[in-house]
Amino acid sequence: MNLNKRALFLIIPVVFLSFLVASSAFYWSLEKTIRGLEENRLELAITELTTSFHQYSTFAESYLEATLQNTALRRFLSSQDSQYKQVSLGTAITKATGKFKHHRSDRLSFLIVDHINMEKPKEQFFFEISDDPFSNLSSGLRRDYESFIASNNSRVWGYTQEPDGTGKITTSRIVDRITLFEPTDIASNNSVLLQLAVEPTRYLELKKSLIETYQADISYNKVLPNNSYAFRNKAYLGPGEVLFIDVPESYLTERLLPVRATIILVSIALFFVSALILLHLVKRYITGPIESLESQLSNVVDQHQDNISISHIGNDEVGRLQRTFHKLYGELATAYKRTKQLAERDPLTQLHNMSYIHEQAANAIEEAREKDECVALIYIDLDNFKFVNDKYGHDVGDALLQAFAARLSSAVRSEDLVCSKKMPLASPGRIAGDEFSVVVRGIHDATVPEQIGKRVLSLFKEGFHFDKGQFPVSASIGISMYPADGDTLAELLANADNAMYQAKDNGKNSIAFYSKELATSMRRRMEIEHELHNMDTDKEFYLVYMPLVATKNNSVDGFEVLLRWNSPKLGFVGPDEFVPIAERCGLFEKIDNWVTENAMRQYAQLKESLGRDFKLSINLSSAQLNLNLIGHRLIELIKQHKIPSHCIQLEMTETLSVEFSRQANQFLELLREQGFNVAIDDFGTGHTALLQLVEYPADMIKFDKTFVEKAMEPTNRAMLGPLVSLCHSQGLKVTVEGVETKEMASYLTDIGCDYLQGYYFGKPAKLEDLKLENF
Ligand code: C2E
Ligand code: CA
Ligand code: CA
Repeated sequence: MNLNKRALFLIIPVVFLSFLVASSAFYWSLEKTIRGLEENRLELAITELTTSFHQYSTFAESYLEATLQNTALRRFLSSQDSQYKQVSLGTAITKATGKFKHHRSDRLSFLIVDHINMEKPKEQFFFEISDDPFSNLSSGLRRDYESFIASNNSRVWGYTQEPDGTGKITTSRIVDRITLFEPTDIASNNSVLLQLAVEPTRYLELKKSLIETYQADISYNKVLPNNSYAFRNKAYLGPGEVLFIDVPESYLTERLLPVRATIILVSIALFFVSALILLHLVKRYITGPIESLESQLSNVVDQHQDNISISHIGNDEVGRLQRTFHKLYGELATAYKRTKQLAERDPLTQLHNMSYIHEQAANAIEEAREKDECVALIYIDLDNFKFVNDKYGHDVGDALLQAFAARLSSAVRSEDLVCSKKMPLASPGRIAGDEFSVVVRGIHDATVPEQIGKRVLSLFKEGFHFDKGQFPVSASIGISMYPADGDTLAELLANADNAMYQAKDNGKNSIAFYSKELATSMRRRMEIEHELHNMDTDKEFYLVYMPLVATKNNSVDGFEVLLRWNSPKLGFVGPDEFVPIAERCGLFEKIDNWVTENAMRQYAQLKESLGRDFKLSINLSSAQLNLNLIGHRLIELIKQHKIPSHCIQLEMTETLSVEFSRQANQFLELLREQGFNVAIDDFGTGHTALLQLVEYPADMIKFDKTFVEKAMEPTNRAMLGPLVSLCHSQGLKVTVEGVETKEMASYLTDIGCDYLQGYYFGKPAKLEDLKLENF
């Protein structure tokens, strides 16, 4: 449940209860007020009623008094009864009503009763002013005067209720016929009874409207038994004449019903309005800011925004909370950036580090799997970096790595990559030392990895310039692709690494793609490496000899000793295959030592068979770094086996002598001082210029078989003679390898080559198989 809903659930019951209590209290007090008002209204109506009644009774009294003063009455009573007197009294009575016009009465009657002391009183005169021309004395009025006579009083007034619901105020007197005063003896023959009855029209109207208005029960002279009345009141009309009025509960209920409905409706409306206003206010000032803060925090956590914004915030709790979070996230973001930098970047080059490359490549593979795309892993290894590092120190090495990293970063920018459909994303990283990688994702164009590879190679064209000079570094690049070359990052890395070694084998500064064939040859290489590590050299290695023929007398001058390996697991493995592997995996010393020791040991045996000293030519591994060490070991060995040092020739490859020029020079000098012969082997396979080579302190240069084959072609032949002459001019003897025919031997002899070697003279053979009689 969110805050707004919670606020709703809190506000609605509270507001509802408040309104319930308030409206109940209001209704209760209103009810009281209305009840009071109604009571007052009733009281007012009763006062009006009573006043009206009293006015009528006063009117009746005054009228009777006025009639008593009237001579028509005196005349009527004193004279004999005649029709004229009757009419005269009637006219007088009618006339008198004019004085009391403001007391409206629909029925006014005057009665004179004679013989009131007799058994049967005589109604002598009855006159009525009304709309009814045939009116008679009503039974009520008759009862009224009869009971008056019986009461033995001389004057009385009362209210006579008629059966038709109307009533009359009566005032009656007994007077002396002559004096018209109260008789001394009521029972005398002269006493007459005068009765004036007035119908209190206005009073009756008022009463009727009272009854109608209040649906009241009205009674005279008694309390109504009904208890279910809202309020009751009484009107004192005269002595003994009390009017009781009961207003029933239904009257008040009826009056209160619209009030109640209005209060309920208004309360409901007010409840909704106040609930809405409260909700709006709560939303605006409480839940709204909290919600906005919460959404901002979510955005920050989901990394859609860097930090929460603190513009337009107040100084309330939410505002302070916002500022605190802003500060907190600011600090967290800085710390996070720093940690991320440390975790993802290589501190030296600022490229992605190995663990990040792993993560990134794993993601790239996952993504490619879903989108059916390709990922390339480009493995870059700097050539000759170790040399720079060792020679110029780590500072220069670090600077070189940094410079390369910077160039790499700008070279693999995605927007520069030519592609047909979608831009691939290339991110460079440093694996370790001088090994770098570029992970390329989103590949739709198969040429993209090679484009990047070529671009990387081109970075070395300009060279790397530092204070200490320009460095001859290049790169060997191996490329493997998902899904063709592997499903997992580990496979891709291993395969790109293998391809990179292939590129190195191809002569460095090149690109190699991983392939099945490459994989096979790598596996073969691994097997050979494994066997080389675990082999029993004395059982599996053996030596063969190949004659070196001197052209000057066409006789054998010596033998080149060559290594053979018969592995119990792999069978026969040629030196062309295993020697480079041994060199790469650091087993060259083991091999060189075995060869030199055994060749020197066999020297005596061969010398005995041959009957003379001869030249023993030994190959040294191109990876021999600590040349001094082997130099001292050689000196020991010739002493041990009593071999003249001039009978030993050491063959070193062209690359060895160039790469380690200074060390090589010292070493060669040392060996030559000791009397050893030094030969530069495999001339024509590398890229070194001849002029550079001839400056090395060597005694011999050996033209490689492949080079000679090329040079013997008719178009090239012309250059061979001058080349030999050049070597001679530098004091170098020339040996030519790969001589397989008689013609070749005689041609090479003719152009001045010093020594020849090849199948024409003899294939490499074991000591016991050498046909020495031929030499
Ligand atoms: P390399 O030093 O250039 O040796 C000469 C290679 O050319 C030998 O092959 C030899 O058999 C071959 N060869 C010479 N003349 C002819 C010919 O007329 N026709 C043909 N088809 N081949 C000829 P091998 O013995 O297979 O040796 C190959 C390479 O292995 C050698 O080239 C050398 O670099 C290396 N190697 C051999 N033995 C040793 C060793 O004891 N120590 C070291 N470090 N390397 C060795
Ligand atoms: Ca050789
Ligand atoms: Ca050679």
